[in-house]
Parts: sequence; structure tokens; C-alpha cells
Amino acid sequence: MRCIDPHLHTNFMFPFDLWHLITAGLEACVIPTQHMMGGMHSGETVLQLWRRLLGFEVHQTKSYGAEAYVALSIPFYGVTPEGIEQCLEEFPKYLENERVVGMGEIGLDVGIEDELKLFKAQLKIAKEHNLPIIVHNPVRFTPGRLDVTKQIVKVIKEENFPLNRVVLDHAAEDTVDYCLTTGAMVGMSVCLDKMPPETAAEIIHKNLDKIDRILVNSEMGYGGDGYFSVPRVIVAMRMLGLKRDVIEKITFENPKKFFNLPIE
Ligand SMILES: [Zn+2]
Repeated sequence: MRCIDPHLHTNFMFPFDLWHLITAGLEACVIPTQHMMGGMHSGETVLQLWRRLLGFEVHQTKSYGAEAYVALSIPFYGVTPEGIEQCLEEFPKYLENERVVGMGEIGLDVGIEDELKLFKAQLKIAKEHNLPIIVHNPVRFTPGRLDVTKQIVKVIKEENFPLNRVVLDHAAEDTVDYCLTTGAMVGMSVCLDKMPPETAAEIIHKNLDKIDRILVNSEMGYGGDGYFSVPRVIVAMRMLGLKRDVIEKITFENPKKFFNLPIE
């Protein structure tokens, strides 16, 4: 069954994993800039990463038979203050690229001042460029995660960014109900440190009246066990008896519409 993965880090994948995922039905993906870089890097390192996503990752995915689109962001950690300034200045030039369909991952993880400052600066740019955003939320089992998610929604409202153009991503068992009340698109990341596919399918099953606002994605995948997150959720939904139109809405129509992807 065809699918779109709206949060796939192809730059962390082995080529065979990507090729297998495309064989399993992936027709398109959105590659966000990861929220964290190890160590401390210059602005030029981030710009080089953006060029890699827009160049190599798009081309490689296409050469395997799928389309890749990109969400750009400055990672919240691992970039020097001068580097952040440089990237903020360079943003407009990169955001013009035809493969850019949004900004992300932006957001908060702990909610400290450094994160908040960068989040607000990036929200402003996304608004100016009329781009939807992929918002990282603290992952499963992080202490205080619901409070941070509420802080994120508060900031988005204070900055007058439209919530219907936001993916609150990495929603999990204890935050998904709240996220579904916000008017945002709710992303469930099915991967090693976040949510099993059966849990995602059960949450969808319980929220059939809200399927317009739900996405599933693979984020970091399962490491050595592959990146079949979206296909696995499709199988889990089918096993719960969900109808084909529900499955296709969540795994194809919703991401296509939300990111306005130019695919049939
Ligand atoms: Zn991610």
C-alpha cells in the first residue's frame, strides 16, 4: 500500500534501508533537519547539512523511486551563537528552494531559555515565509513532557502562528489526547524510543472522529531493525479492522495535503 512518511531522517539511514522502505510502498517523504547536533558546530556546518538534504538526499531518494521534500531548521543544540545568527540570516535564500515544504524540527525539548529564543526566532521566519512547521516535543518517558508540550502550544499562540499549520510531533500515550484538542496536526513517531506501531493503531482506532488531524512517521526508525514504521502502522491498522480509506487518509492524504506535496 502506498504511503508518505512525513518525518524521515534519510541522512541517518543506510541506503538499503531506504530502498527497502520504498519497496514497501513509500512514495514520498519529508526530511526534517534533526533537532540536535553532537558537539558544537559552526553555521557553515548547518548550511552544509541543509545543502545535503536539498541536494544529495533528494537525489538519492529519487534514484530509488520516491520523492523527498525537506523541512529546514537550525538544530536547538550543537550550534554556536554566531552560527545561529549566520543561519538566521541565510534562511531566506535556502527557503526559496522548491523542495522546501516546511520548517522543522523546531520547538522545545526541556523548555529552557536557549531553546525558547531559537524557537521564537524560527516561528517568526516560518510565518514570514508562510511555511508549515514540524515541532519536536519531548519524547516518551521524558519527565514533565506534557508541561513542555503545553508550553510549546502557549508560545505558538503568543507568537500568533496558526495552529492548523503545526505538527505537534512525537505525541505519545500521555500527550496525544491533549495534542488532539489544540487544533494542530498530531504526529505519532513510531520508532525505537517513541511509540510501537500497535499503540499508534489503537490510538487512531479510538479517535476515528479526529483522523483529519493525525499523522504517523518513522523519525529515527528502529536502528538495525529498519525504518518500516509507516508500513508497520498500516499493517497494525488493518489488523484492527480499520477501513482502507481511514488508513490511506492517515498515511497518504493527510501528509500530502498538510505539506501541499506535488504528487498524485
Ligand atoms: Zn526527527
